[in-house]
Amino acid sequence: MEKIELKYREVSSDLVKKVKQEPGGEFISRCYQCGTCTATCVVNPFKDDFNPRRIIRMAALGVENVLDSIEPWYCAVCYLCTERCPRDVKPAAVLMAIKNVAANEGKVPAAFKNINENIAKIGRLFEIDDFTNFMREDMGLPPIEPIDEEEIKKLISGTRFEKIIKGEESET
Ligand code: SF4
Ligand code: SF4
Repeated sequence: MEKIELKYREVSSDLVKKVKQEPGGEFISRCYQCGTCTATCVVNPFKDDFNPRRIIRMAALGVENVLDSIEPWYCAVCYLCTERCPRDVKPAAVLMAIKNVAANEGKVPAAFKNINENIAKIGRLFEIDDFTNFMREDMGLPPIEPIDEEEIKKLISGTRFEKIIKGEESET
């Protein structure tokens, strides 16, 4: 997945509609490109190709390859932009909606697939090893108990989660 390039030949009028249909994407068209979200963003100073204003603009214009980019996935979901957006676009939620549209089309970046596979298997982002619990004990904290993996599998089997992660999901 690469930096989003402007390919206006790949513009789709459906993209904005799809984003608006996702929870949180409803207000994308309110954006007047002031850039407050990018100026506020906690990730942008460390990753200058992460620019929420630009991502929202691309999606609002219907530039389809925003869905192929890893950029929306860099958002730390801190909601600072949402607190400061003068148009109440709810930019963090719009980015989430863009990611949902990408996931519906099987476009989840590999790194996020790996994280999600861990959740499906063990119910956590990463395994808790003995060393972690040893460190917790040293700090006077209780050990982290194992999660019931069968319960996790049962919960996940009732959702589209695994299909999305395997890229087998396509929009209905
Ligand atoms: S989402 Fe809000 S803060 Fe960001 S550019 Fe649009 S109007 Fe400005
Ligand atoms: S929610 Fe995402 S886009 Fe908004 S300020 Fe935080 S990291 Fe940046």
